[in-house]
Amino acid sequence: MCRAVRVRPAARVRRIRLPYPFIGNAASDLNTESTSAAPVVIVGAGLAGLTAALHLADRVPVVVLAKRDLSEAATAWAQGGIVGVLGEDDSVDSHVHDTQDAGAGLVDEHTARYIAEQSAQAVRWLVDAGVPFSADPAGPLGLHLTREGGHAVRRIAHAADATGRAIHDALLARARAHPGITLRERWMAVDLVTSRHVGRDERPHCYGVYALDIDRRRVETLPARAVVLASGGVGKVYRYTSNPDTATGDGIAMAWRAGCRVGNMEFIQFHPTCLYHSQDRSFLITEALRGEGAVLRLPSTGPGDPGGQRFMPAHDPRAELAPRDIVARAIDFEMKKHGLDHVWLDATPIVAAKGDAFLRGHFPTIHARCLALGIDIARQPIPVVPAAHYTCGGVVTDLAGRTDLPGLYAVGETTYTGLHGANRLASNSLLECVVLGRSCAVAVLDAPPAPRRALPPWDESQVEDPDEQVVIAHNWDELRLLMWNYVGIVRTTKRLERALHRIKLLRGEIDDYYANFRVDRDLLELRNLVACAELIVRSALRRHESRGLHYSRDFPDALPVSFPTVLTRPARSRAR
Ligand SMILES: Cc1cc2nc3c(=O)[nH]c(=O)nc-3n(C[C@H](O)[C@H](O)[C@H](O)COP(=O)(O)OP(=O)(O)OC[C@H]3O[C@@H](n4cnc5c(N)ncnc54)[C@H](O)[C@@H]3O)c2cc1C
Repeated sequence: MCRAVRVRPAARVRRIRLPYPFIGNAASDLNTESTSAAPVVIVGAGLAGLTAALHLADRVPVVVLAKRDLSEAATAWAQGGIVGVLGEDDSVDSHVHDTQDAGAGLVDEHTARYIAEQSAQAVRWLVDAGVPFSADPAGPLGLHLTREGGHAVRRIAHAADATGRAIHDALLARARAHPGITLRERWMAVDLVTSRHVGRDERPHCYGVYALDIDRRRVETLPARAVVLASGGVGKVYRYTSNPDTATGDGIAMAWRAGCRVGNMEFIQFHPTCLYHSQDRSFLITEALRGEGAVLRLPSTGPGDPGGQRFMPAHDPRAELAPRDIVARAIDFEMKKHGLDHVWLDATPIVAAKGDAFLRGHFPTIHARCLALGIDIARQPIPVVPAAHYTCGGVVTDLAGRTDLPGLYAVGETTYTGLHGANRLASNSLLECVVLGRSCAVAVLDAPPAPRRALPPWDESQVEDPDEQVVIAHNWDELRLLMWNYVGIVRTTKRLERALHRIKLLRGEIDDYYANFRVDRDLLELRNLVACAELIVRSALRRHESRGLHYSRDFPDALPVSFPTVLTRPARSRAR
């Protein structure tokens, strides 16, 4: 029997795992099938994964994996909306221009144009799928379009202030009802099954995935006609993030281990104001609050200082109305200068100017959520921190989601397509999921299925149950804190080098643990997070300028000519 390759650094492995006979069950039957008759396996049930699944499922069987509950995905948390070039006053050129402007010189124009050209069709498809967008009988397609920062015109289709939930619910309902789609909740992809697992003389190809059935605590081999990574971003690598727990960069790490290139990982978008509270660390406080008059203040910085001093006017003449990245940088600066763990966002000036009813009426969700945590925003300041919000880089793909590895595709926040450049324009990410989710499905259907191969089972013959979960918990905390402190909003070369040093040590410990103990979700996520952390730091170290979301004190200016950062894994360490 073939030996299952659990990819790990040989030098650190204390014991060698032996192949073991596979004990059959429903899922394991898949192992005996030829990969050519296998389903398309999609890793992720957010907007990107569900779009691809729904476009594939009439023609081929599809299995969709979600490592937590199906409802958990960044998609469901999106508030603002999705771009649609629909209005009479709008044009593809205008949208491309705005995208390029936000992307600070690193947007791929061809990508931006392709996606803008298909935006109307994408929104129409969502309408047909039953998404209850906010209506305006006089609007294009009967939709109310709103305008967001960076957009020249109204072009954002939305469902009140909970667009993502409306989209996700509608597509999940469709996927559940489709006979060609099998949704596997609480199944976590561990690694890709590639040529390396199959035989020495194989050409590089992806044949399937190893996936952990979390409830039954076993890893199954899932052969696939093609694998689509749609596993979202990596916000959880930072101590503070607006992202759900699913955002641990699994797809990026898996593709990297399999030898795919990754691009622009240094560009992490930070949202300036996320609620700082022990019971709710991912709740965004909308920028509209500052737009209506809320101001940022310092809390007490020491004995005798009651706090309350405004600081934004010292950073930018536009004060609280400066662009998102400037506000985030200013907050970060003040927090580091005074050793604070948060600042205050004070909404009481809104009450003074416009009254209590205005505040409650315009910000009902924030008002209710804060009140439930004991903060009355009409009277008290809201503790806030900036938080990692969006991963602009990821697995390098073309406009059909093809990666460097035949048989492997990637879509959504997991990818680097060139759309976002050095900074993402608001509401472009949901659009990218729909447009490229569809083109990826077309490419999968056009490609010949993976050649017939028998795939080796997962090898757990020589591993034990973890003895000390504290190692994992400690390393999770350490990694997220060091990323926050050294690789956050403002960077220096010295901090990045320190971070890289620590990350390598952590990676060693985690690889060791992975090689010797039975895997669970926490360990697998930590392994992926540390891999992504290293990619972010290495990318940041390569950029000798400040541009878009990457700000370095050592290189404060933008270079006259700049390129994307593309990392290639050395051939000898690839998991093929
Ligand atoms: C608070 C917030 C507000 C936002 N607002 C907007 C907005 O208004 N407009 C906009 O365009 N964008 C917005 N975004 C960004 C946008 O929501 C995301 O970029 C987009 O939804 C990503 O979709 P996705 O399908 O790529 O990933 P996700 O929606 O994150 O889905 C990832 C899926 O992958 C699964 N998964 C991950 N790893 C594994 C694994 N190893 N095995 C199995 N399954 C796995 C998860 O369980 C999940 O099902 C917002 C993001 C946040 C966090």
